[in-house]
Order: sequence, then C-alpha cells, then structure tokens
Amino acid sequence: ISFTFCNYGTIFLSSICKLSIWNLIKRMIKMKKILILGSTGSIGTNALELIRNNRKQYQVVGISGNRNIELLKKQIEEFKLTSIYIGSEQDALNLKKEYSFLKEVYFGENGLAELSKNSDYDIILTAVSGAIGIDSTVEAIKREKRIALANKETMVSAGAYINKLLKEYPKAEIVPVDSEHSALFQSLQGFKKENVKKLIITASGGTFRGKDLAYLENVTVEQALKHPNWSMGKKITIDSSTLVNKGLEVIEAHELFNVDYDNIEVIVHPQSIVHSMVEYVDGSIIAQMGVANMKTPILYAFTYPEKEFNSSINFLDLIKTNNLTFEEPDRKTFKGIDLAYRAGKIGGTMPTVFNASNEVAVELFMKKKIKFLDIYRIIEEAMNSHQVLSLNTDNALNIIKEVDKETRKKVREQWEK
Ligand code: NDP
Ligand code: MG
Repeated sequence: ISFTFCNYGTIFLSSICKLSIWNLIKRMIKMKKILILGSTGSIGTNALELIRNNRKQYQVVGISGNRNIELLKKQIEEFKLTSIYIGSEQDALNLKKEYSFLKEVYFGENGLAELSKNSDYDIILTAVSGAIGIDSTVEAIKREKRIALANKETMVSAGAYINKLLKEYPKAEIVPVDSEHSALFQSLQGFKKENVKKLIITASGGTFRGKDLAYLENVTVEQALKHPNWSMGKKITIDSSTLVNKGLEVIEAHELFNVDYDNIEVIVHPQSIVHSMVEYVDGSIIAQMGVANMKTPILYAFTYPEKEFNSSINFLDLIKTNNLTFEEPDRKTFKGIDLAYRAGKIGGTMPTVFNASNEVAVELFMKKKIKFLDIYRIIEEAMNSHQVLSLNTDNALNIIKEVDKETRKKVREQWEK
C-alpha cells in the first residue's frame, strides 16, 4: 500500500511540478515585455500603475527618466530593472555604483535611442516629452516593434519620415496613446478608409476657454498650469492652454491616419467625455467615450486588438454624465489651431518648425522669460522666416534634425534674455 501511495504521490507531485512549470512557460510566452520611455512622467507613471495591477501579463524591461532620479530609483527597485536611461552622465555613474545589478545604463543625447535599439521588448511606450523622442521611435520601427505612441511631437516634427519608414518595415506598428487619436483609431476599426467623411477631434478648450486677448495678455504660468479636466505633464498642460496641443493633434491625426487637413475638424467639448469621433459618408458618427483618464488609451495600445480589464481603470457613470456639449473653438484668440493647420498644409519642414518653436516658447514661458501671448508670436515668426525644405529625400531625418536645431537656436537668440 505504501509503495502504491508513494508511486501515486510521486506521480501526483511531479504532475503538479510539470503543470506549474508548463504554466510558468506559458505565462512567460504570453507575457508582454514593455519598455517605457518617460517612466517618471505622467503617462509613464500611469502605465506603471496598469502594469502593477497585472504583473502576470506584463513585464517592464526598461525605463527612462531625465531629472527625477529619486522616482527612477524607486521604479528600478520595484520592478527590478536592469536596463535604464537617465539624463546626465553623473547620475548614470551614481546609479551604476548604487545598483550593481544594472546591466545597461544609458545617458546623454543618444542614450534613449540606444535603449530602444538594444533592450529586449515587445512594446515600447514613447512617453517622453518633445521631439527628443524621434530617434527612439525610429529605432523601434527598424526593429519592427509595436510603438505605443504618446510622444505626439515625434509624429508632428517627423511624421513624413516616420510614415516612410513604416512602409520599409511593415511589421512595425504605431498604436496611438493620445486620447483623441486612440478614440479615432478605435472609431475607425471595422470600417473602410474611403467611407470616412471626416475626423472630429474634441478639445476641452483648455484653462482659458472663454477668455479674450486682453485677459490672456497677463496670465501667469501658475494659471496656465491649471487644467480643468486632465492631469498631465507641464509642457502639454501649457500646450492645452494655448490650444497648440490641439494644433499638434491635428497634424498628428493627419500623419497617423492619412486624412486631408480639410477633413479634420476640431470642436470644443468642455466635459472631455467624448474623446473624438469619426463621421462616415452615410451620416453615422462613431465616437469613443470614457472618463478623462489616460489609463484606458495606454492599456488599449498594449492590448490592441483585444480589450482588457484592469483594476486601476475608472468607469464612466452615464447617468451622472449629463449635458454633453459641443461648440466652435475660438480660433482667433487661441491661434494654436490655425497655426498648426497652416504648418501642416504647407508640409515639408514647416511642422518641424511649428513644433520646435513651440517647445522653446513653452520652456521660456515656464521660466517666466516671455508672456503667454508671446508663444504665438514666436511660432508665427519662426514659421514666417522659414524656407520650407522638401522631405522627399533619403536625407529626410537629417534635414528634420537640422531644421529643429536651427529653429530652437534662432528662437533662443531672439527671445532668451
Ligand atoms: P511629463 O512631463 O509628465 O513627463 C515627461 C517624461 O519625459 C519624464 O519622464 C521626463 O523625465 C522625461 N523627459 C523630459 N525631458 C527629457 C529629455 N530631454 N530627455 C529624456 N527624457 C526626458 O509628460 P507627460 O507624461 O505629460 O507627456 C509625455 C508625452 O505624452 C508628451 O509627448 C505628451 O504630449 C504626450 N501626451 C501626454 C498626455 C498626458 O495626459 N500626460 C496625453 C496625451 C499625450 P523627468 O521627469 O525624470 O525629468
Ligand atoms: Mg490629447
């Protein structure tokens, strides 16, 4: 009896063992490896929260921060990371000393792109702020990865080049994270592109909705940083207050979905519940709705074409959500939208100039070196003085980088006192 028991016991135990090893292997195969650029930022920390709540499905394989070293350290410890990027060389050296288990510590100008080129991931979330994200997106495309793209400045500054590259590397895919573009992406699923009449991008209207030029003349950084609906990084919050963010999103939509500028409309929807819509030729409008929280679009960029539950997601209570309203944007006061349409329609290197001049203008405004309305003046001047170059060349990326650099330099020379 004891022999039989022993035998059965062994079989039983080894089956459990095999089963759990098998489950482990299955889980590891299914697990998505995620690289997060900008993990210390607003999008980055939201993404980590989603992953924290579903560790069986996701593994973070690398992260990046620029200045917020304390938060980066916490993230390294929590997710036991071995591949990271940090802005300065000194911080990189200190981190290496403190965490001997770190294998790859990148820093400086090419470090983000190196991280994207070398680490082992399935999905890269590009959530750094600004055109600094271009090279890492390029590397991810060359490796034919999925790019969960939050970093809209890349698509605005270098969209023409990125689209050309995507054709060369057809297995690479961009799934947008920007809430409007995630909404458009979702509202386009299952329909034919030729049946689209227009894309309708919603805008909250920003902090200063309803205000006039006289009021805007003396608004402060602190006022501009108070967004009514969304909690975001500082740069994008200022962009929302000027509506340049909506302008950037118009160009981003044009580049992502290949729709003419004349068929992209911006409407103000102060409640930020309808995240954007697609109107079709038969008069139907397909919209995507949800609470104003970036977790849903980030999660969808990880799970597309699937949808997935995550315990950190907030759900919309439709009964409490009455009064969804829509209105025309005030394009005369908030010139950010029209300047973007102009830059986009001109094409070539003009969107690069639009983006670069705005990035510097926002930085100067945050340092209190210029006034709020100077942001528009700076963009307008930069665009007016720019000789547009074609990007229909193999050298497009270099041209974009050169124009980006030159634009920043010119704005600084003139406005940084
Ligand atoms: P944050 O300012 O909150 O975070 C930016 C991240 O990028 C931080 O990790 C920051 O590091 C890092 N970073 C900043 N400058 C550099 C640099 N020069 N080199 C390397 N890393 C750098 O921004 P958000 O999370 O709000 O936005 C990120 C991107 O997502 C932007 O392109 C934005 O337009 C887009 N987006 C954001 C939305 C939001 O809700 N926040 C919505 C839609 C799009 P550190 O903090 O350590 O200095
Ligand atoms: Mg947006």
